Amino acid sequence: MANDDKLDLEKLKALATASDAMTRPCNCGIDGFPGWTRLPVEFPEQQMQIVGTLVEDPYQEATYTEYHRNGSDYWSADAPIAIHYHPYNRCSVLQCKVCARCCLHYVEAGGYYVEKRIRKLASQWIVDVPL
Ligand SMILES: [Zn+2]
Repeated sequence: MANDDKLDLEKLKALATASDAMTRPCNCGIDGFPGWTRLPVEFPEQQMQIVGTLVEDPYQEATYTEYHRNGSDYWSADAPIAIHYHPYNRCSVLQCKVCARCCLHYVEAGGYYVEKRIRKLASQWIVDVPL
């Protein structure tokens, strides 16, 4: 199910807008992850398809600089989704095959752990900020 299609800002916004419009309940629970969340064990990964990636160049290490505003931090539900900044520059976009909601996904590699994380893709937080 690999899909390494690069998503530009317009494509990302289109996916987010379509995802935002979904109202029917779904067992994926993507609406319940407005900010970064450790992938819950019950999350139905087999129900997800990768629709694209935000990684610009897989052969170059992306920056760890984060972009914030209005006092947001990494975990904030209102943190901007700035695609050239950490961790969005490491993300792929997953779409639920049942409800078509989308979420951002990447693997956080800390000193002693590797953790899959997800965040709902919501159009209102997507910002166009150059690196
Ligand atoms: Zn779903």
